[in-house]
Amino acid sequence: MCGIVGYIGDKNCVPILIEGLKRLEYRGYDSAGLGLLYNGNASAIKSKGKVSLLEDKIEGLNIKSSLGIGHTRWATHGEPSEINAHPHGNDSGSMFIIHNGIIENYAVIKKRLQKLGYVFKSDTDSEVLVHLIDDFHKKGNSLFHSTRLALSQVDGTYGIAVISKTEPDKIIVAKNGSPLVIGIGDDENFIASDVNALIAHTSKIVYLEDGEIAEVYKDSFMAKTITDEDILKEIVQVEMDLDEISKSGYQHFMIKEIMEQTESVTNSMRGRLLVEEGLAKLGGLKGFEDQIAKSNRIIIVACGTSWHAGLVAEYMFEQFAEIPVEVEYASEFRYRNPVILPNDTMIFISQSGETADTLAALKEAKRRGALCLGVCNAVGSSIARESHTGVYIHAGPEIGVASTKAFTSQLVVLALITMLIARKRHMSLADGKSIISEMATLPAKIERILKLNDHIEKIAEDFVNAKNFLYLGRGYNFPVALEGALKLKEISYIHAEGYPAAEMKHGPIALIDENMPAVFISPKDSVYEKVISNIEEVKARKGRIIAVASENDDKIDSLVDYTIKIPDTIRMLMPILTVIPLQLLAYHIAVKKGLNVDQPRNLAKSVTVE
Ligand code: GLU
Repeated sequence: MCGIVGYIGDKNCVPILIEGLKRLEYRGYDSAGLGLLYNGNASAIKSKGKVSLLEDKIEGLNIKSSLGIGHTRWATHGEPSEINAHPHGNDSGSMFIIHNGIIENYAVIKKRLQKLGYVFKSDTDSEVLVHLIDDFHKKGNSLFHSTRLALSQVDGTYGIAVISKTEPDKIIVAKNGSPLVIGIGDDENFIASDVNALIAHTSKIVYLEDGEIAEVYKDSFMAKTITDEDILKEIVQVEMDLDEISKSGYQHFMIKEIMEQTESVTNSMRGRLLVEEGLAKLGGLKGFEDQIAKSNRIIIVACGTSWHAGLVAEYMFEQFAEIPVEVEYASEFRYRNPVILPNDTMIFISQSGETADTLAALKEAKRRGALCLGVCNAVGSSIARESHTGVYIHAGPEIGVASTKAFTSQLVVLALITMLIARKRHMSLADGKSIISEMATLPAKIERILKLNDHIEKIAEDFVNAKNFLYLGRGYNFPVALEGALKLKEISYIHAEGYPAAEMKHGPIALIDENMPAVFISPKDSVYEKVISNIEEVKARKGRIIAVASENDDKIDSLVDYTIKIPDTIRMLMPILTVIPLQLLAYHIAVKKGLNVDQPRNLAKSVTVE
């Protein structure tokens, strides 16, 4: 969600901040702004809409500044507008803050501050922060301690940056629940909510933890806890390539990331397949393998696409590891009274590793004594750091809001975890070998599916005007039906539902007529014949059918209107292949509708508010 960047040094920070904000655009936002100190002045320049509009505005002003902060806002309190955009300033305009997250007790604080004479200009929750800090500052506290004292009165989540012309040599940053990092340069320092925004300038990163606050100068920084304890922060060298976060000639990040899946799936498996031993090697789980394998139950917690990956994993774990599994929405889990038993293992799946609900559920599970395993893409992210143990999916940065390559890599990693447990439990060497060898064939099969891009684009042409879609699959491909429907909804704004194919008879079949397209995921597996019967049922009601089917299936062509034929693999791995045509279908329909697939309306990439 919203983005934060900041710079302090000798250069003109305006182009640096604009470029940083552009790198964060993929996260989804509705307005943007900069807060700058220059020539003894402080000011904020804001704009509703895209960063390019802010850029146009600021170019006209010709400001040069060597200390500034920038923000992209994803409105939670107050409509998207220039007034509600960040930074927010104090009454005298000497101090500005930017904030990512939600201040839950803002209404109480606001009332108190209004009684003291503070005037609020915006409808945001965030504005209370600047007046509260200002109030402490006016009483003689330093900017650092004013921010610290203000934050100790606040409930909720924040990544925050504060600047003031009263102390023009520093940026104050703090974190609780929303990501915040400091980038260390030579005689210049940076701050950001996401390493992506900094990688063009430095790879030396300091990750703030929840409840930490730092004072960043151009050549040093100092960190404490909000409760004023001293802490020492480590500078971490991150490995990321600028190429990985650019479109590399593709029209959109989403299609680039779909097309990258041969490579991303390879990277997720690299060094992890022990074919001869029929084993998976997962360094991140070292020391925890036995405990995980002895679990009585696995509880998987996630949101959105990651939750769908969790549903696939339920089939994997039950079939091969023979462990009971529950898959939970993080937002529901955290507010229930979940029963966690002594030998439960919990798996938290999040691409960004910052998903607010998943992170909160993880913290709750830790409090209740569960062994917590994180499956994340973003290295060093909050969920990765909070978990007891975990596995990175190594899909590379995912910028498109609609998750694609992260999903297939999550499935690869969940399959590897399944293998690790299954081999420690009942699975024979021979079965282990055959599954691990089959995994090694996936990249070549993905490559063949990606060659169907033009064919799928042609199919998409016929569905641009569809108003609804049904996605149907059974067994391992039921979660794929959910994921296919989600992709279409997210980027094409066409209403779509995923269903277990046989459930259709219990309701959705009433919707079927010649205007209701149905996508069947029907590879030749053990439920193939059953799915064919479901196809017949739709056909009998004149529904238009697209089938994702096996390459060697000659029978299906006469039953359906469109086929997408893909290579086969074992059932457990099939979702890694069957989802790819659905990603491409959603992409092409959305592009043909003229929509911005990388930044669909109302959506944000990493959902850092609950
Ligand atoms: N809650 C704040 C607002 O609505 C910040 C939202 C964000 O994270 O962008 O302005």
